[in-house]
Amino acid sequence: MKSLLGGKGANLCEMTNIGLPVPPGIIITTEACNEFYDYDRRFPPGMEDQVKEKLGVLEQDTGKKFGDPKNPLLVSVRSGAVISMPGMMDTVLNLGLNDETVAELAKSANDERFALDCYRRFINMFGGVVMGIEHHKFEHILDGQKKKKDAAFDHLLTAEDWREVIAGYKKLFEEETGRSFPQDPMEQLFMAVYAVFNSWNNDRAIVYRKINKISDSLGTAVNIQMMVFGNLGNDCATGVAFTRNPSTGENLLYGEYLINAQGEDVVAGIRTPMPISKLKDEMPAVYQQFADTCILLEKHYQNMQDVEFTIERGKLFMLQTRNGKRTAQAAMKIAADMVKEGLISKEEGILRVEPAHLDNLLHRRIDPGAKLDVIAKGLPASPGAASGKVVFDADEAEKLGNDGEKVILVRTETTPDDIHGIVAAQGILTSRGGMTSHAAVVARGMGKPCVCGCETLAIDYVAQEFKVKNTDIIIKKGDLISIDGAAGQVIKGEVPMIDPEISGELQEILVWADHLRTIGVRANADNPTDSTRAREFGAEGIGLCRTEHMFMAPDRIPVVQEMIMSDTLEEREAALAKLLPVQQGDFYEILKIMRDLPVTIRLLDPPLHEFLPNGEELAIEITKLRATNGDPKEIEEKETILKKVRSLHEFNPMLGHRGCRLGISFPEIYKMQARAIFQATAQLTKEGVRVIPEVEIPLVGDINELKITRVDVDEMAAQVKKETGVDFEYSVGTMIEVPRAALTAAEIAAEADFFSFGTNDLTQTTFGFSRDDAEGKFLHEYVEKKILPDDPFVVLDRKGVGKLMKIAVEEGRNAKPGLVIGICGEHGGEANSVEFCHLVGLDYVSCSPFRVPIARLAAAQAKVKQGGYISKSATV
Ligand code: PEP
Ligand code: MG
Repeated sequence: MKSLLGGKGANLCEMTNIGLPVPPGIIITTEACNEFYDYDRRFPPGMEDQVKEKLGVLEQDTGKKFGDPKNPLLVSVRSGAVISMPGMMDTVLNLGLNDETVAELAKSANDERFALDCYRRFINMFGGVVMGIEHHKFEHILDGQKKKKDAAFDHLLTAEDWREVIAGYKKLFEEETGRSFPQDPMEQLFMAVYAVFNSWNNDRAIVYRKINKISDSLGTAVNIQMMVFGNLGNDCATGVAFTRNPSTGENLLYGEYLINAQGEDVVAGIRTPMPISKLKDEMPAVYQQFADTCILLEKHYQNMQDVEFTIERGKLFMLQTRNGKRTAQAAMKIAADMVKEGLISKEEGILRVEPAHLDNLLHRRIDPGAKLDVIAKGLPASPGAASGKVVFDADEAEKLGNDGEKVILVRTETTPDDIHGIVAAQGILTSRGGMTSHAAVVARGMGKPCVCGCETLAIDYVAQEFKVKNTDIIIKKGDLISIDGAAGQVIKGEVPMIDPEISGELQEILVWADHLRTIGVRANADNPTDSTRAREFGAEGIGLCRTEHMFMAPDRIPVVQEMIMSDTLEEREAALAKLLPVQQGDFYEILKIMRDLPVTIRLLDPPLHEFLPNGEELAIEITKLRATNGDPKEIEEKETILKKVRSLHEFNPMLGHRGCRLGISFPEIYKMQARAIFQATAQLTKEGVRVIPEVEIPLVGDINELKITRVDVDEMAAQVKKETGVDFEYSVGTMIEVPRAALTAAEIAAEADFFSFGTNDLTQTTFGFSRDDAEGKFLHEYVEKKILPDDPFVVLDRKGVGKLMKIAVEEGRNAKPGLVIGICGEHGGEANSVEFCHLVGLDYVSCSPFRVPIARLAAAQAKVKQGGYISKSATV
């Protein structure tokens, strides 16, 4: 009943039901909170009467009476959201105390000092949470008393001292609020409930929900519970614990407690708590009961629990239990261990690991053994680590980045105008802005490490340096630093990094995932290193080998430019002939590494100008050469190139002369590539290596585009077979990456052996967004304003792009049953999108090698969830 009672309330009820010692209480539902907002922040009609009625039942259960000076019922009032939002909302303890009941508490506890301490804490919490009085003002009064009595610690103050403090607190309360501290417990209660409802919309709760994508409309419940006291003497204690270690996952109770203390003392860090293992010596019987309770809770919730408890005069009370937050490492170990312990099924285990956890583990990390000179800490905005030279300007980052330098872009904050610098940088560091700042959102989207809101940095753009406040550390432009985006650390100098590896529990879980999933997982790879990594990470083939990257290599670009600059077919063919053996070598290596697995090789896709120098830079160079009476031959050469660059200029290259359009204008390019693929295939076949090349034509929007290019590919295959005398298998298919291809999939299927959704372009062309412009300029605002639920280039847009995919799958397979269909856009490595691909029946997803494990896990989760399996406490 979490949605009605809130997480904390539902768990308290459940703990009561399974017979655990929970202080009795009542819960005001989240519905009441939502109505409170519907009524413009007023209690809904009837709510107060219902609360009073149920308080009567609570009084009967506890044998105490609310506001009774002889036998007072004291309660805690706590918020309880549906999804846990630790520390985001408010709590009031000891409610029900007033000038009269405090005397009774002193009597029943036989400890006046204790009762007065409770009362002053209550006035402080109530004043802060309900009336908004700043905490330091209360602290100031307390410190004054301590100074007066020369007492270093609170517990050295006497009952008389507390009386003085209480008088001071009450006076402060009056000064700040213009009214006296409320003495009527019922009034106290409803004021506290009001404050808890209100706290649902305090700034930190709103920000927390935004970061964690929690709906604003869930509301919070209010838990009103009989107080139990951990501060009645040395047979009392209070503590927090995890049923397993939340950072390593080790199956050992982990936590701490304080003897003779109340809840907030543990968190406040005033006294140093004891490790939970010590409780075994101090209170063996209670410890045993607590340890047994933890085992019972894990069995019941089938998950690692984060619990709060209080021991009142040797009696254990459970105050809270919830699924414990954990690191990626721990999530993996706990899931695997619980499966092996027989506590949960493999299906459940699979659902326990969040794809984001894997994301964390699969980034390059700082070598855990490295000695680090940490100079500052900020927010861990985007995981991964990077080292580079400090630059303070996006243009400079781009310039150095293009020269092959590694840079860290350091800004007070970034704006969409910095996007080119972010792209070029290894990592981003900002001194301002939170987890949803521009830098954080963009860096996460790009998978780049980012530390933001690092407020101890004083950045001086004029001097091109930053100082670390309160130190004499100054870092200048060009100095080397490292950032750890998972820990939020800024480190001086370069640090050793380690590549992620798959072993231990991660490996175990991925093997289970492979057994469960039904959709295949391939990788996008276009060089031997990535292909090897793809296999290591469990890819079942290459779903996209982009051949343009091969053209970009420094030793090849002059030949590619020669080909582009050619005026005649003969000249072009001569240049292509030089490229042929190089391309053949590329394909030979990749196909060999991927033996026995399919490799989809896409023929050239980008517009040709991408292989030529930048026109503006060239024009500047020519002007400079002229001004300095440079070599006329060089000037002439550069002018020829500039002329070509200008002739290739397009108003919108994304929609311009690229993909198969290029292959149709210059069939010799595709023919050369097809020949390279088939010659490598023949060579490997001869060597006894089984290879499965799949030739892919990009950007097809009409069947005739595929027909005409396919003829050339098939002819080339026949020629190579004849020339080499080797028979081999191959297939020819197309990307579906413009809407027209999806809408005419039935026709296209007739000519295609396979389809592969290029959802990067399909998203661009469906929305009419150019990705770089959209992500740099307005998309993050769209997401912030909830115009779109997510960046559609990250999470596949099921409604629009997904609908086109569905049409293409249905029509394609109707026309050609068994047609192999995959996806190779970046969505292929994003969990939500993988689920969609599974649901529409794709054969495989393909993504960058580092994301392959995420796709394997997400594919299994999609299958498990589709089977109607409902997890008891999965996090995904
Ligand atoms: C795509 O468009 O989804 C795709 C994979 O191609 P590229 O990203 O290379 O344009
Ligand atoms: Mg594309």
